[in-house]
Amino acid sequence: MLLGTGGGPRPRAASAASAQVIVSNNVAYVIDCGDGVARQLAFAGVPLATLRHVFITHQHSDHNADYGNLIWLAWTAGMGTRVDSWGPPPLAKMTKLFFEMNAYDINTRVSNEGRVPLAPLVHVHELHGAGAVMSDENVKVRAALVDHPPVVPAFAYRFDAPDRSIVISGDTAPSPNLVKLAAGADVLVHSVMYPPAIDRLVARVPNAAALKASILAHQTSAEDAGRVAQQAGVKTLVLSHFVPPDDPEVTEAMWLEAARRQFRGTVIVGRDLLEV
Ligand SMILES: [Zn+2]
Repeated sequence: MLLGTGGGPRPRAASAASAQVIVSNNVAYVIDCGDGVARQLAFAGVPLATLRHVFITHQHSDHNADYGNLIWLAWTAGMGTRVDSWGPPPLAKMTKLFFEMNAYDINTRVSNEGRVPLAPLVHVHELHGAGAVMSDENVKVRAALVDHPPVVPAFAYRFDAPDRSIVISGDTAPSPNLVKLAAGADVLVHSVMYPPAIDRLVARVPNAAALKASILAHQTSAEDAGRVAQQAGVKTLVLSHFVPPDDPEVTEAMWLEAARRQFRGTVIVGRDLLEV
């Protein structure tokens, strides 16, 4: 399920920031933690207490702003068992400092509400390179390094379950590593931008020139996402992490048309809370 489909950290009325959840046998695997991810899970009807694994693709605020909040708030919602988090450094330091920052509330709820201490439940695994990430009775997860300068490392993740394979691109320019990771997958969720609209997006901000150059260098156009999906031979391409995220002049039909230029499989234009 797509929890948030807008690209960029600015809070918006139209769409939440990047997050997805894969649910297998009532176990929740959350990929990226943009602003509001815990509330989006509530809207999605996924019980927060089923949170078991958190994956961060890269350390940009539209993907990690609510990383700590998700775990903390899930704990207040009854999660009392182990959680593993996976992602690029400095994930361990971020986790440690987050619990320090919120120690007052956490300690109060332990002593006052009888909750189990939170920090010992959370096991952090910093990822430095591509390869196998984890596997359990539901899924096998692998990571590839993608191209999202200057953020290094930036990962895409592939989830193989007995009935389906799902790849989450994270943020990237067109990536040969992602093509390999996604080979033959059922579903590829790919971040996309619409280059003709980038000028309108950056016109609102004082750092327009630098922001435009940065976006064009580290994101993938919808047309190129179609090319990646075609090269990888996936069945379904799901467009998400839209840049710009809320330009009324870029319609669903335009995103679809751009992706279909290069891809002959099924294209889905993502939206918040869409279940694939
Ligand atoms: Zn990013």
